[in-house]
Amino acid sequence: LADRLQSTIKKITGKGKVSEQDVKEMTREVRLALLEADVNFKVVKGLINRIKERAVGQEVMESLTPGQQVIKVVKEELTTLMGGEHSKIAVSDRPPTVIMMVGLQGAGKTTTTGKLANHLRKKHNRSPLLVACDIYRPAAIKQLETLGEQLDMPVFSMGTETSPVDIAGKAIEQAKEQHNDYVIIDTAGRLHVDNELMDELQQIKSVARPDEIFLVVDSMTGQDAVNVAESFNDQLDISGVVLTKLDGDTRGGAALSIKAVTDKPIKFAGMGEKLDELEAFHPERMASRILGMGDVLSLIEKAQTNVDEKQAKQLEEKMRTMSFTFDDFLEQMGQVKNMGPLDDLMAMIPGANKMKGLKNAQLDEKQLVHVEAIIQSMTKKERQEPGIMNASRKKRIAKGSGTSVSQVNRLLKQFEEMKKMMKQMTNIQKGKKGKGMNF
Ligand code: GDP
Ligand code: MG
Repeated sequence: LADRLQSTIKKITGKGKVSEQDVKEMTREVRLALLEADVNFKVVKGLINRIKERAVGQEVMESLTPGQQVIKVVKEELTTLMGGEHSKIAVSDRPPTVIMMVGLQGAGKTTTTGKLANHLRKKHNRSPLLVACDIYRPAAIKQLETLGEQLDMPVFSMGTETSPVDIAGKAIEQAKEQHNDYVIIDTAGRLHVDNELMDELQQIKSVARPDEIFLVVDSMTGQDAVNVAESFNDQLDISGVVLTKLDGDTRGGAALSIKAVTDKPIKFAGMGEKLDELEAFHPERMASRILGMGDVLSLIEKAQTNVDEKQAKQLEEKMRTMSFTFDDFLEQMGQVKNMGPLDDLMAMIPGANKMKGLKNAQLDEKQLVHVEAIIQSMTKKERQEPGIMNASRKKRIAKGSGTSVSQVNRLLKQFEEMKKMMKQMTNIQKGKKGKGMNF
């Protein structure tokens, strides 16, 4: 599929503008990629619409082909859709902080209970109590106890005869007595969502009054995961999602849909069976993964640096030979306007970040309009050789641009200073010593 995307991209490279047809073609590929990655179709639809809005008619950044640009927009939109990073865990001001793990059978609740406990101790120096509330599968208690042994952490269980609701209540009492600042409740799952399960979870919730309810979702289950997330959220008002088994070859499109459908953050990602294989969830990485086009994305990045380098080289050559003219200046300004923030442009000029003072003084965005008008009022010769500027020329330019002679003078002076600085800057970059000035 990534191949298909790439060939579409190839077809429309070299165009100066993103046409509606380009976007249509691109979004069709993207749409297929997303659906194939198990992203919910409603989510895909909304997303595609936003992408179309953003991408059609956009002037193409010189460094990106239209296809790449569309992809960039797609990636950004996907990332936004999945939200920022949310790997924080609640802290109750009246300990213990209670975390309840819910989810279907086999999703990874018990494993993640152990992982979270490990994380809390390692990263936050906490001492959790693990609670075995899955009484339906005898092996489940044993499984948690084994994890407890591995971690050298207490596990609270009352066998299979006591109700999970009572177990949860008792566990919290014990945690208070024994100064466990976190209680992580491992609950039972079912193969499918059913009322009995939900009733029990709701009862546990009302007794344990958890600070967090983490829904554990198996990323391999695709679209089903979205439905599961929706019903758990409706019934329990979960606080976050842990997406497990992302170490497998799943595309993980479910991740995107879960956030969109429940509006609850994906907080952690399970990256393996081991107890330290839990990570904060990274929306951007996930976006790349969903699009299945790490190649395409690195291609974009490469194109970006390549062309920036090319532009920078040309500029540098001009600076070095002192042939930087007002025409170049104007061109630079045109780019500034297209690109938005000045910082972007400055970032492209090697070493420009060292010229903070210059930037603030001379490239104030509000002044750009005047500056542009002044340069446009110059003749071709004046732009190439500002040295020929005399009083009458300046007067003419001021008049033509609706500015004053002193404004024209200021610009000329700034331009000369800029040239000087650029010259020194390139010398420094080339390893020669600049004369007299340090940056
Ligand atoms: P539960 O029924 O929800 O409690 O699920 P378990 O915690 O018992 O996990 C079910 C299976 O999934 C076990 O074999 C775990 O080792 C495995 N598992 C859980 N999380 C992950 C993960 O992030 N990656 C991988 N590869 N396996 C996982
Ligand atoms: Mg379990």
